[in-house]
Amino acid sequence: MGDLSKHFSRKEFECRLKGKPHGCGVKISLRIVHALENCRADPRVKFIRINSGCRCMEHPESVKRARAGKAPSYHSPQKDGFCHAVDIVMFGHDGRALSLKDQYEIAGAQPVFWDGGIGIYPDWNTPGIHVDDGPCRRWTRKRGVYTPGINLD
Ligand SMILES: [Zn+2]
Ligand SMILES: [Zn+2]
Repeated sequence: MGDLSKHFSRKEFECRLKGKPHGCGVKISLRIVHALENCRADPRVKFIRINSGCRCMEHPESVKRARAGKAPSYHSPQKDGFCHAVDIVMFGHDGRALSLKDQYEIAGAQPVFWDGGIGIYPDWNTPGIHVDDGPCRRWTRKRGVYTPGINLD
């Protein structure tokens, strides 16, 4: 039993700097956690690894965005004070990551994510996805380049 939901705990989502817990105390939205629980309930999924959850404004990715003049990402606290994005990898019962097609399909079956943001990341060491409950957006990052839409080729 996790301390946020059946399978997820606060520490999986906490803001980390250089791999270490930052201790800034920013929190993930339960709306996201519950949608992840629903993804985990898909028969294809054994478990979901959270690569990155909350990022306070001191997090290097937040600093980079601010320097580039971009608004804070959904990984950072929003108006309600909670963070609303996670980078994840879904694993199957054979212990291997599911295909990006399956991960996208499973995330997309959740209205919270379908109506929100889903990005796919084929270049990660273990390919995975970003999900959030912001405005509806889709993107693919390949070789460091972001393109709109889901490109599974
Ligand atoms: Zn932090
Ligand atoms: Zn992300």
